[in-house]
This record gives sequence, structure tokens and C-alpha cells, in this order.
Amino acid sequence: MQRKVFFTPGPAHLYPTFEKHLQTALDEQIGSISHRSKQFKAIYQYTVEQLRTLLAIPPQSAILFTGSATEIWERVLQSCVEKESFHLVNGAFSKRFYEFAAELGKKAIKQEAPFGQGFNTGQIHIPHSAELVCLTHNETSSGVSMPVEAMHQLKKDNPDTLFVVDIVSSAPYPALDYSLIDSSFFSVQKGFGMPAGLGVWIVNEKCLQKAESLKAKGLQIGTYHSLPSLWSKYTAYETPATPNVLSIYLLGKIAEDMNREGIASIRKQTEEKAALLYSFLEKSKLASVAVQNPQHRSQTVVVADVKQSSAEYLQDIAKTGNVVGSGYGSYKDKQIRIANFPANTTAQVEALIQVMQQLEA
Ligand SMILES: *Cc1c(COP(=O)(O)O)cnc(C)c1O
Repeated sequence: MQRKVFFTPGPAHLYPTFEKHLQTALDEQIGSISHRSKQFKAIYQYTVEQLRTLLAIPPQSAILFTGSATEIWERVLQSCVEKESFHLVNGAFSKRFYEFAAELGKKAIKQEAPFGQGFNTGQIHIPHSAELVCLTHNETSSGVSMPVEAMHQLKKDNPDTLFVVDIVSSAPYPALDYSLIDSSFFSVQKGFGMPAGLGVWIVNEKCLQKAESLKAKGLQIGTYHSLPSLWSKYTAYETPATPNVLSIYLLGKIAEDMNREGIASIRKQTEEKAALLYSFLEKSKLASVAVQNPQHRSQTVVVADVKQSSAEYLQDIAKTGNVVGSGYGSYKDKQIRIANFPANTTAQVEALIQVMQQLEA
């Protein structure tokens, strides 16, 4: 059977080396090893080391594993907020993060931008009372991204407030400065080209101290996956519960492959492929770039408004073996979303553009 090429923003196309590593994992019977064994600790350590290199994560920060990124929304709010969090909201994912804070009984303050728009740093007002600033680097629903420099500047302007950045649909692309950003997180079924089922939480000691201070005050900060519990196990390369060992192993292998290629090269290629997609959309008769401000256009999830119904357009594209994502939520039929993750090669992106070009004729 002819295999499809997925341009869906998660689950996404699998990383080219995924299958080889999966076979090795099966040969080595990774699925049956104990998560308390030396072999598992070596896997955890290896994956941590590869991710540190790839994303320039300082040795003081912990790298923790959870079930999903959604779980980390809850964990980081429980751990780092006693009373008040601040959120930039401009789409479904950043909104959900904000809603979690309210559901957990926090005072959640948001600044909202219309769907398809981003934020300019000069217009962001973070209250002094906020304990945690929650940013979404790449709003997967709308294709709006916040420039990394803007996030860094915001932290410099608010040095005493903890900052967490959702990099779920952009990692490993954004070059975050972890001497500024206190925490970030992603899941593996987007930019890392793996099946879903693992959340990765990068978190510094300031967050840990905050969580411990909340616990000391008698606040409920969670049980087995509370930050202090995850962190204390991490120091021995263990996890509180039986983790997704297979996925942790595969993530280490794929991060190693990415390191071999070099993060600078991956970032450059991401930008080149995004430029191909945006320049095609600018000339297209059937679709147009959804995000007006070029500085807020995502490099990893390209969103386009479509003239006809997206369902028909996507079906025509699917006939050629290319799977593009529909719009999100109420934009399902009005937009399309094209994932531009490291697993999608330049040749695949060029082939997709050619298919879309032929549909214009
Ligand atoms: C997909 C996504 C999430 C949720 O990830 P899960 O792995 O489903 O928990 C969170 N934030 C953003 C920006 C996403 O794109």
C-alpha cells in the first residue's frame, strides 16, 4: 500500500528514522524492562542528555515525563500558582490553558487577541500580583506564533514572575533562552514525529521552590505527579509511576538524530519550507495566508483561509496521498492547517505545493 504523507498538526508525519528505532526497541525488548532497572535509568538519562544538547537546556533544569502536554498545563498551574496566573490567549489551546487555571480555583487573568492575531510586547500588561505568566509560543488552532525575542523581553521586564511557555506545536524550533524562561513543555506527536503518549516538562529550580512553598502552606499541589514528586524521582532518573518507556527511548533516539543533523540546520530548513508554503499561498487563487502580520506567522503550522469549503479542497489533496489538516473548531471548513515539522522534508513540501498548484488550474 502506498504510504501517505501527513501534514497534519499532530498527530503528524512520523520522523524518518522512527521505524528503525522502533524495530531496535522491539529487538531489545524495551517493552518488557522494569522501570526500576538500571537499563531504564540509562534510557532516561540518555534522552535527557540528548534533549539538553538539542534545546540548550542548562544542567540545573529538570526534564520530566508526563502523560501529555495537557497534563503539564495542570501540573504547572498547581505547582507555581497560589492565587493568580496571567495568560495570553489567542486561540483554542492558549484558552484551554487559561481555563484550567480557573478550574483549579486560581484567579486567572487573561489578555486576549482576536483569532488569527498575535501580541505586540508594548501592549502586554502583566499585573504585579501574577505569580506565573503562561505563554503559548505557537497557537496551533490559528497558526499565530509569538517571536522568541518578544517572550524573552517580556520576562526581562518582569524578572520576578515565573514564566512558562507552551512549545507543543513548535519544539524543537524555538530557541528559548532557559536562563530567562523558567519552564516549557511539549508532547511528542507534533514536531518530534512520534506517536502520541508522552509529555515532556522542562522546569527550573525556581518552580520547584515555589511548589515546595505551596506544599508547606498546606495547598494541594497534586499527588504522584506533583513537581516535587516528579523531581525527586528524576534525580535518580526514575519516574513516580510506570512511564511510557518505549516513547522515552524513541524520543532519545530521535533527539540524537536531530543533534546529528544539527539544530541550526533544522531551524533553517523549517524557515525555508515555511517560506515556500507562505509564498505559494500569497499567489494562490484557492487559499490565502490567514495570519496578516508576517511577524506573527507560525513557522511550524501554516494556516490558510480557503475560498471554497475546506472539506472538498482537502479531499482533492488527499487523492494524491497528502493529508493536510482542516481548520480548528469553528474554522474547520473555512481554513486549512499545514504542519511544517522536521519530519516533513523539503521534497515533500515541494510536492504538496505542486499538488495544490495543479488544483488551481
Ligand atoms: C496539541 C497541543 C497541546 C496538547 O497536547 P496533548 O499532547 O494533546 O496533551 C497543547 N498545546 C498546544 C499548543 C498544542 O498544539
